[in-house]
Amino acid sequence: MHKKSDAYFVCFECGRVHELSGEIWRCTCGNPLDLVFHPEINLRKFESREKTMWRYLEALPVENPSSIVSFNEGFTPLVKSEIFGKELLLKMEYLFPTGSFKDRGSSVMISKLKELGASEIVEDSSGNAGASISAYSARAGIRCHIFVPEGAPEAKLTQIEFYGAEVHRVKGSRDEVAERAREFAESSYYASHSWNPFFLQGTKTFAYEIAEQLNWRAPEVIILPVGNGTLLLGAHLGFTELKEAGVVEDLPRLIAVQSSGCAPLFRAFKEDSEEVSEVERRETMADGIAVAKPIRGKQILKAIRESGGEVLTVEESKILEALRELGRRGFYVEPTSAVAIAALRKIEEKGKIVAPLTGSGLKLGERMKRFL
Ligand SMILES: *Cc1c(COP(=O)(O)O)cnc(C)c1O
Ligand SMILES: [Zn+2]
Repeated sequence: MHKKSDAYFVCFECGRVHELSGEIWRCTCGNPLDLVFHPEINLRKFESREKTMWRYLEALPVENPSSIVSFNEGFTPLVKSEIFGKELLLKMEYLFPTGSFKDRGSSVMISKLKELGASEIVEDSSGNAGASISAYSARAGIRCHIFVPEGAPEAKLTQIEFYGAEVHRVKGSRDEVAERAREFAESSYYASHSWNPFFLQGTKTFAYEIAEQLNWRAPEVIILPVGNGTLLLGAHLGFTELKEAGVVEDLPRLIAVQSSGCAPLFRAFKEDSEEVSEVERRETMADGIAVAKPIRGKQILKAIRESGGEVLTVEESKILEALRELGRRGFYVEPTSAVAIAALRKIEEKGKIVAPLTGSGLKLGERMKRFL
């Protein structure tokens, strides 16, 4: 078994093992890496601590507690609601310091990078991930560069700039923006939410919290919006660890929902394929999951299949309807967060259903008006 001190990276694709360091962010074969170590799961110890995501410290890859970069975030409320005739539990992930669940990943990733001695990082995202990583870098005293496409919505860029990150506007496609960020990273460190293995170690606290809030049981279903899959893979990792430790009996079925305007995972799932190929992207109000080719696509499909889950899509009009239904119940979220709710009518389910509300509507400011 692997303790924190002998954690290492392994490539999901080729199986090659790499020493843990703050320098590499992908395998020599070009694919993403996962972190391997043995989490220590002691429920009584967890329960004795403050209600933040860091109460699961022994299950997180940070060795020295003084490295922790945190705003005492997490342990988000799980509240009952009924929408489209279905009872479910909504996990209020938009109550994080920067307004989205991405803070789970950023808090653990930035903590670990600080522990490994990083002084400067780079990321490409004009959305919630960029804002989140900027805020945690600010708290850690790490210089942060965010590469964004020219013409990215100003509201989220303002948030990034407020945190003191340097915004680099790049002409060209989303791919070109990522390419420029990676070039820049040759003399810095690429702290991409979709590539970095430490990020998933943070998003897995989503699973630990849900299990604890249900008296250390797993719900039957977790239904969630999926783009690059950082929340889904975190949920899968967390519940797998809890199952291996004998805390929960089964994995929840993971139901990934995509906008029909951009649904590469849906297509691959339907075609029984193991690989995810790039799709043509149509305009969608769910811009937070408009990812034409998810970096960890193969891994996402495997996790969904292993859990007995599936992939669904929803049309724009259904997303809009779900967004309004949420508003009527007092939940002000961004359209991307409404995608999973829009798919509720498509699922047959008896047991407990959990859906995260992933991002706050407040960040969109006046842009929310067009959805009224
Ligand atoms: C990032 C994000 C998602 C999707 O998360 P992935 O990790 O890309 O699957 C969903 N909702 C919101 C609000 C987000 O910011
Ligand atoms: Zn590899």
